[in-house]
Amino acid sequence: MITVVQQLSFAAGHRLKDHEGKCRNLHGHNYRVEFHLRSPALDSVGRVIDFGEIKLRLGGWIKQHWDHAFILAKDDEEALRAVSMVSDQRLFVLENSPTVETMSNFLLRNVGPEMLADTDARLVKVVMWETADQFCVAELGD
Ligand SMILES: [Zn+2]
Repeated sequence: MITVVQQLSFAAGHRLKDHEGKCRNLHGHNYRVEFHLRSPALDSVGRVIDFGEIKLRLGGWIKQHWDHAFILAKDDEEALRAVSMVSDQRLFVLENSPTVETMSNFLLRNVGPEMLADTDARLVKVVMWETADQFCVAELGD
């Protein structure tokens, strides 16, 4: 089984409104993400997919939607209202609380399939660091 891995970093703000401790405050992280991709066969050049394409497609999505954005849950009305008052502030609303679990799973299940739809490559695993010591692994079950 051959897997290619592309890493990238971005910065974003969030909060976990029901958190028992300090994570209920508006704050941010320098996130690090690892995208793991596979394809049924290597292409005529001998690649799963060109690394430049991964950066363009998956990195491009992050740059456009999450980098220097605030990422909030759709039921976090108070924070949504506050962040919405800042003009031109990038805001991304997730179905669930923006934990590293929710975010890595969103990349795996939504962004990967959407951004790689016209390629043979498939995003099979996302590893995402919220801090240097804490990370989450989201991977497809099969
Ligand atoms: Zn946090």
